[in-house]
Amino acid sequence: MKDNVAVIGAGTSGLIAARRLASLGIRTRVYDQKTRLGYPAKASGIISISGLKSLEVGYEKAITNTLFGANIHSGDATMRIVSKKPEAHVLDREKLNGICSDEAEAVGAKISRGEKVDGARLDGIGSESIIVGADGPVSSVARHFSMGAIERYTLTYKAEFEVSAPDPRMVDLFFDSSIAPKFFAWLCPNSKSVLEVGIGIGGKNGNSKAAFDRFVRLKEVAQLLDGARMIDGYASLIPMQTARKVVDAEREVLLVGDAAGQVKPTTGGGIVFGGNAAIIAADVIESHIKRGTGLGEYEKRFRKAFGKDIALHGVINSIYSNLAPSRLAFLISVFKALGFESFFSKYGDMDRPSTMLKRFFLRGLAK
Ligand SMILES: Cc1cc2nc3c(=O)[nH]c(=O)nc-3n(C[C@H](O)[C@H](O)[C@H](O)COP(=O)(O)OP(=O)(O)OC[C@H]3O[C@@H](n4cnc5c(N)ncnc54)[C@H](O)[C@@H]3O)c2cc1C
Repeated sequence: MKDNVAVIGAGTSGLIAARRLASLGIRTRVYDQKTRLGYPAKASGIISISGLKSLEVGYEKAITNTLFGANIHSGDATMRIVSKKPEAHVLDREKLNGICSDEAEAVGAKISRGEKVDGARLDGIGSESIIVGADGPVSSVARHFSMGAIERYTLTYKAEFEVSAPDPRMVDLFFDSSIAPKFFAWLCPNSKSVLEVGIGIGGKNGNSKAAFDRFVRLKEVAQLLDGARMIDGYASLIPMQTARKVVDAEREVLLVGDAAGQVKPTTGGGIVFGGNAAIIAADVIESHIKRGTGLGEYEKRFRKAFGKDIALHGVINSIYSNLAPSRLAFLISVFKALGFESFFSKYGDMDRPSTMLKRFFLRGLAK
């Protein structure tokens, strides 16, 4: 019986799993191909405050900005969803990774940096250790153990510019299938003086950099960025489906985070679901090692906790993905006329649409 764990990948999901495992007294080693963890940060760092709290990470030192809401644009229509209280933080992703690795090491997890693990090496490690595949959207672990490779992705490109946002408390989202098919473009104030500009496009063969170039040439974006220095720019991937199998109980292999596709298909946010899945996986592994219970519990517990919300995010994504720009703009004006702007401002939940739906129906019943 294997009594120790090898985590492949030191992103937030792998490190949160390692921290939890080590704190439960399980011998844990994390392997990452990078020597500088979390760098370069190819992804954004907008995370709901409630979601951050659920991860039990000491994230405060990574905060670069705090957001109160979003302006949602489509054609000429704009819906402004703004809360009276802070809803999300923007975090420096490399610092967040640093905090997660410090926390994991503090409770005894070992981290091997600069070690890529794939192919036959996985069999070697897997013969002695339970494997947690936390190796991101193109997972070698998922592929090697035939757990159902993810085939649907959003292709992204994002860059930071030295310029202040018109309103540093708000993120701007642009839904227009002629610019960002099946996803959206965004302007996010990462801090008072740094604006992140990004875009995602659905499909396998698009060119996210070309889409980004078209987006920054739009009149309102070009005016905002006029003369601003671009700091960096990166292409990346967001998985748009969950892996067919997130656990192989027989071979003692589990997938967490992007490797398992535990991402919100509406926004691409994966830190909250991936981190929570990592905590569930660690608890199931501890029980497996100490009490002989089955690893299959992981899938059941994750689906119970988050399956409904991931499915609802998928439904919302397919609605906006399949609407022509003029229809989406019309839908937004209808939403506004029906008073949804204030409803979303008051009851919106960026992680859990099911909670929002419950509030919607309860409000209806209470009337
Ligand atoms: C443009 C963009 C914007 C995003 N914005 C947000 C956002 O605002 N909020 C949010 O919550 N989420 C966001 N996401 C999603 C979020 O970044 C991911 O869900 C999250 O990073 C997943 O974490 P992870 O630990 O599962 O995987 P990753 O962060 O991808 O980490 C995987 C790690 O595994 C390592 N690795 C890979 N292969 C191997 C191997 N064979 N051997 C050893 N190591 C390996 C990699 O080096 C990496 O460190 C965004 C993503 C993108 C692309």
